[in-house]
Amino acid sequence: AKEAGRNAYRFFTEHMNAEARERLQIQSLLHGAAERGELCLHYQPQFDLVSGELACAEALLRWNSAELGQVSPARFIPVAEESGLIVPVGEWALREACRQAESWRRTGFAVPVAVNLSALQFRRSDPVELLERVLAESGLPAAQLELELTESVLVQDSGGGTLERLRRLKALGVSLAIDDFGTGFSSLAYLRRFPIDKLKIDQAFVRDIATDPEDAAIVNLVIELGRILRIRTVAEGVESEAQLRFLAERGCDMVQGYHFARPMTAAQFEAQYRAP
Ligand code: C2E
Ligand code: CA
Ligand code: CA
Ligand code: CA
Repeated sequence: AKEAGRNAYRFFTEHMNAEARERLQIQSLLHGAAERGELCLHYQPQFDLVSGELACAEALLRWNSAELGQVSPARFIPVAEESGLIVPVGEWALREACRQAESWRRTGFAVPVAVNLSALQFRRSDPVELLERVLAESGLPAAQLELELTESVLVQDSGGGTLERLRRLKALGVSLAIDDFGTGFSSLAYLRRFPIDKLKIDQAFVRDIATDPEDAAIVNLVIELGRILRIRTVAEGVESEAQLRFLAERGCDMVQGYHFARPMTAAQFEAQYRAP
């Protein structure tokens, strides 16, 4: 029976398309990747557009698989989301970011960290309980932590549960950012109701602001919206001087992108941004 099972499996996998096979492989290898020490975080700085000061460090997952080598987040994050593995993997990232930020803070380099929290993490388990636990374990003051949530979190509000969870998170003292803003379907009503501190304008809109009037109009609108609702705006994916000039003129609050720095290891980040 065992042999038959193995043959059935082989038949199945041979007839799956290459992409499905790759997803299955990523899923099985990602399981336990944290325990094998294959995951790490890179950090990308975010700057205050007016003062030019370092405002925060976004923690971004990196996976160096023993079997596959360096796997890009664009490949493994979607698989992790679909399989539910994002829950343990995201928890690892949160712990590691808080540990790193607290280790920096204790030694005189207090930079807030921003951690990506997937919609699944937000809905499936109690994020407030997890946050409380991780903050207590690490010793990091809650004010030094920002959570980046996508619009899908705001939209899938079943019976007001989202508002309640966001309020409890805010009550811990962490700040809340909406990631990839403009790509989802969050309504203005949600934005006004929810305790949001930052809107991160998706890089798809930022890319052509200097040349595409429609993208420019959208980015303008988001910056204006932020001003009206008293929510700070961050432009993601800033790669050029022209983009930066546009954003400065329109009064965007913060910037992040390759024009300033790529995501880098914790050691590189510290070497570059800790005041001598
Ligand atoms: P994101 O949260 O929107 O992160 C920004 C992505 O844009 C990062 O890609 C970053 O490296 C890239 N980026 C930054 N500046 C520029 C730029 O100037 N130009 C261009 N073209 N790209 C820029 P990365 O690190 O590959 O991450 C991709 C996505 O994977 C993230 O998008 C996020 O959705 C997800 N992700 C990464 N780490 C985590 C995590 O710990 N938890 C969860 N749930 N998702 C994560
Ligand atoms: Ca993000
Ligand atoms: Ca983003
Ligand atoms: Ca994104």
